[in-house]
Amino acid sequence: MKHRVRAAAIILVALSLVTCGRSTPAIPNICPVHGSPLKDDTVRIVYGLIEHRNGIHNAQRDKFPWANDLIEGGCVVSTESPKFGPVRYCPACREAKLLWRSEHEHLIVRKSPT
Ligand SMILES: [Zn+2]
Repeated sequence: MKHRVRAAAIILVALSLVTCGRSTPAIPNICPVHGSPLKDDTVRIVYGLIEHRNGIHNAQRDKFPWANDLIEGGCVVSTESPKFGPVRYCPACREAKLLWRSEHEHLIVRKSPT
């Protein structure tokens, strides 16, 4: 009987790990685009509505998915909101993002003054 309870507990833990793995994408150790090992960094958290250059989302997905040079903190901010946060990043992705930005500077979205 004792072994059955232990076996049931092990199965439940294993199932919960599988479920967690499906709902939360794992952070890889290697960049899938560049094959570079990911590193740890602390970056600035930017709050508010952020205007992105046209095409950056597709470029980020295909060319620099692990640049992680800032954290988008959302639109709710207070005096207690953190200014910096931890990320994992790929150095080659950051270089690719800088290159992409320099090549697409003309695509920045600007609001006209009111
Ligand atoms: Zn990369």
